[in-house]
Amino acid sequence: MSESKFIFVTGGVTSSLGKGIVASSLGNLFQSRGYNTTILKLDPYLNVDPGTLNPYEHGECYVTQDGAETDLDLGHYERFLNIPTTQLNNVTTGSVYQSVIDRERKGDFLGKTVQIIPHITDEIKNRILALETKKKFEIIIVEIGGTVGDIESLPYIEALRQFKFERKDDVAVVHLTLLPYLSSTGEIKTKPTQHSVKTMLQSGVQPDVIVCRTEHSLTEMVKNKIALFCNVEYKCVIESINADTIYEVPLLMLNQKLDQVVSEKIGVSKLKKINNSIWKKRLQKLKNPNEVFTVGIVGKYVELKDSYKSIYESLIHAAAFLGKGIKVKWIHSEKLNNHNIKNHLSDCQGVVVAPGFGDRGIDGKIAAVKCVRENKIPFLGICLGMQVAVIEFFRNVCGYTTAHSTEMDSHTKYPIIDLMKNQSNVINKGGTMRLGSYECTLLKKTKSFEAYQKLTIHERHRHRYELNNEYKADLISNGMIMAGCNKDLGLIEIVEISDHPWFIGVQFHPEYQSSFINPHPLFISFVNAFLKK
Ligand code: GLN
Repeated sequence: MSESKFIFVTGGVTSSLGKGIVASSLGNLFQSRGYNTTILKLDPYLNVDPGTLNPYEHGECYVTQDGAETDLDLGHYERFLNIPTTQLNNVTTGSVYQSVIDRERKGDFLGKTVQIIPHITDEIKNRILALETKKKFEIIIVEIGGTVGDIESLPYIEALRQFKFERKDDVAVVHLTLLPYLSSTGEIKTKPTQHSVKTMLQSGVQPDVIVCRTEHSLTEMVKNKIALFCNVEYKCVIESINADTIYEVPLLMLNQKLDQVVSEKIGVSKLKKINNSIWKKRLQKLKNPNEVFTVGIVGKYVELKDSYKSIYESLIHAAAFLGKGIKVKWIHSEKLNNHNIKNHLSDCQGVVVAPGFGDRGIDGKIAAVKCVRENKIPFLGICLGMQVAVIEFFRNVCGYTTAHSTEMDSHTKYPIIDLMKNQSNVINKGGTMRLGSYECTLLKKTKSFEAYQKLTIHERHRHRYELNNEYKADLISNGMIMAGCNKDLGLIEIVEISDHPWFIGVQFHPEYQSSFINPHPLFISFVNAFLKK
């Protein structure tokens, strides 16, 4: 294949249908057939990136190797494709407008009226084409966020219309819709799907394939009806029924030949043979665990599970690899204190203290760390979770009872966690944290080294604060191990505790680098610690 082929994934009827999972599954199938594949997310909001969004608004903010703060769907893309994405893989309306307006100010359009069509739509098309020209992917899947009919997504649908017109033979459109089931009559209804396809037609786009989210299997009659009313072939009506796990979706799509029908639309006449045996084996292990563990995730956004998506999935990956199952117990940090904590954690074989910002729920997190440290429960602290572990240790083991992070208490006498030096002059909040992949050197004879089995690792970051090196000696003499360090900055990346079966705090986010096929070594080691116990 000389030029790239493009598959657009749009959504109709409602949001949250799992477009990201369908896009990832399709990508997974093409990749398993040996095509160099990537997935791009177009997000219709005006934020330049989701880095400034509260997780309640938008779930987790995912960070790429090259330091872009992106939509959580990119996490799915990496988990299903097992290759890194980059800042080219997430486009927001905010970033599109920003570059067009910057160019207008420079005078690039002198004399011209700058308009949504063609300037914004051109910019959108150029962002998509960058993955063809700069990265040479064979298959580029483009997921358009939101639901067709939204005012916000109109420029994207228009860009898609132009794209399809200009590259007719290289473009397929997969439309994902919801088929509601009426229990009173026992019927699956197709009308909302018909309407959402009509909405697309009003914008000049005819979907090639309809993927139907449904709780019940589609009858031949329902499929025929959708085919007739939505102008698609019968074989292009694909059912996406609720699955036990998202990792089953690629196989459910394969069974219905989704990749086959899509490839016909983009002129790939003979698909290469599929090789997905590892995926299938891992899925079998995931679906048939010989033991199930409970892991407590302590955080302040637990009402919205998407806030900790990558951590959840990383636990699942590691457990599946070991033939185990994981049940997550979501624990609200605001509800925890030293009196009730033991009760909350009594059924947990391990505890994760989650990343976060600000002081809401911080005391509960400290109480959780105290409990797992004293009771020798396996513990993984991630980013803020690591910082909290250090605060707790410095207070309760080293004896500096009023120590804190300057993020929560700017006047603390013992700033055990403090702002990184190069952050002190930062004023703008957007995109200014320490972001992306950095090197970390491990100490031999530590649990971390045992997990990674190498001295130099690379992990992704998203933080402004760090362990204050002034107090390092105190921590070490009391039994804390500085197990990993970024040598360039002298920044402590990993702490452990010597007299504990498994207690690790990491300044970075291992959860951004775990995939279904390639689970993260730290998570594997963490789950393994439950077995040893
Ligand atoms: N708030 C902390 C910092 O900025 C931790 C950030 C995080 O958990 N991602 O350093």
